[in-house]
Amino acid sequence: MGPHVLIFPLPLQGPINCMLKLAEIMCIQQIKVTFIITQHIHRCLFHSSDAQAYSTKYDDAFRFKPIPDGLPQDHSRTVFEFSELMLSLGAVAPPILHQMLISTDSPTCVIADGLLSFATDIAAQTGVPLLYFDTISPSAIWTYMCLPKLIQVGDLPFKDDNLDECIRNVPGLEGIMRHRDLPSFCRGAIDFTDPQVDLVLKQVHHMPLSQGLILNTFQHLDAPILSQIRKLCPNIYTIGPLHAHRQTSYINSSSIWEEDWSCISWLDNQPSGSVLYVSIGSLCVMTKEDFFEILHGIVNSGSRFLWVRRPGSVAGLDPIDIPLELSRATEERGCTVSWAPQQEVLAHPAVGGFLTHSGWNSTLESVVAGKPMICWPHYVDQQVNSRFVEEMWKVGFDMKDSCDRVVVEKIVREIMELRKDEFLKRSIELSEAAVASVGEGGSSAAELNRLIDDIKYMKL
Ligand code: UDP
Repeated sequence: MGPHVLIFPLPLQGPINCMLKLAEIMCIQQIKVTFIITQHIHRCLFHSSDAQAYSTKYDDAFRFKPIPDGLPQDHSRTVFEFSELMLSLGAVAPPILHQMLISTDSPTCVIADGLLSFATDIAAQTGVPLLYFDTISPSAIWTYMCLPKLIQVGDLPFKDDNLDECIRNVPGLEGIMRHRDLPSFCRGAIDFTDPQVDLVLKQVHHMPLSQGLILNTFQHLDAPILSQIRKLCPNIYTIGPLHAHRQTSYINSSSIWEEDWSCISWLDNQPSGSVLYVSIGSLCVMTKEDFFEILHGIVNSGSRFLWVRRPGSVAGLDPIDIPLELSRATEERGCTVSWAPQQEVLAHPAVGGFLTHSGWNSTLESVVAGKPMICWPHYVDQQVNSRFVEEMWKVGFDMKDSCDRVVVEKIVREIMELRKDEFLKRSIELSEAAVASVGEGGSSAAELNRLIDDIKYMKL
């Protein structure tokens, strides 16, 4: 029997995108894949014909294993209920995983999302090697790893009046990370009974217990952080940006919403570098007030824009609330869709910048496309990612904590006109490094080969 990997992502768009890419690479490399997803996500994916094609293309080598998440079918599963989803999945999934690991068709290895820490015990009981794949940014993972120390030395909790103070106890990030750049749940008193905090601290504890940690990054991008993480998890595979690996060309989409390709035709008719792409990913919800501040700022800047307004992404927004002058500007130089083929949008020559919530996948996709970013982070790793965009890589602005139309207008002008060349130059350099890393002889290509060999020959 050949090698067989069981891949278990979080039931969210970002992790599914990464893990499906990895699954496809494994299939191409003659490794059989069983892909565990929740029945809810399975239903969403199968709206997309690509997902259907994906499961048939690799016939024997790939199969989805849909499992219940324990929530009722009509549950809304919004970001506000993420903890509920994780608690429910944490109760339902372990016996199923255990059963799969002791079956006759048991895998040679499990690759589970870092937040699914129940996999540690099950892998140990069944003797199946376990790799964690953390699909958030290494800088956020490293920050998480430092949280117990920050709490121990009294750096956390901190008062909201010293948000700009630098943190001393995140080695490698001294002078860069401020209190305000820590994950949002660190603000105010840390609530250890909060399921989100519990999940993160468990993750930090369990990660080093696995045989290895897979990260969606490349050496050049995160070198100082990776050397810190290696101190706790010596065996890390830096195989990203996963979406940029050329061999993953078969699957076009792993979207759980239908993509509206009309925006590509719209982009085709816009001048080069003139459009600001705006998207806050698959989970974030902005307030109506913030929506109007951003829209006013962009409209006042005079920039063209393509805005992804995912249903429910602006709390309580009714289209008739939009004042006439904003509607007119949107008609004249804007385009709105409810879900876009984001990688194609970012690669389009008409796009000159990306106003993003700084989710890790969006950040990497922008890096690969060589597009400067305006970051407006919400939670989890986004606070850290946006700081890196501005302070470490210098490919954009971090708007964190200030959503004001005057600030938005100024930043959009800087990125799209006044300092366009400067930001573009650095973004293109970073893009070239990203593309080189997955190309022949690149660091991520080598790390991917090492991962594949380790799985094939079980040298874990
Ligand atoms: N995405 C997309 N179309 C959109 C908006 C987002 O395909 O209109 C994809 C995007 O390419 C990325 C993922 O959704 O791969 C979002 O992941 P990310 O980590 O950026 O943020 P999250 O949604 O997890 O907050």
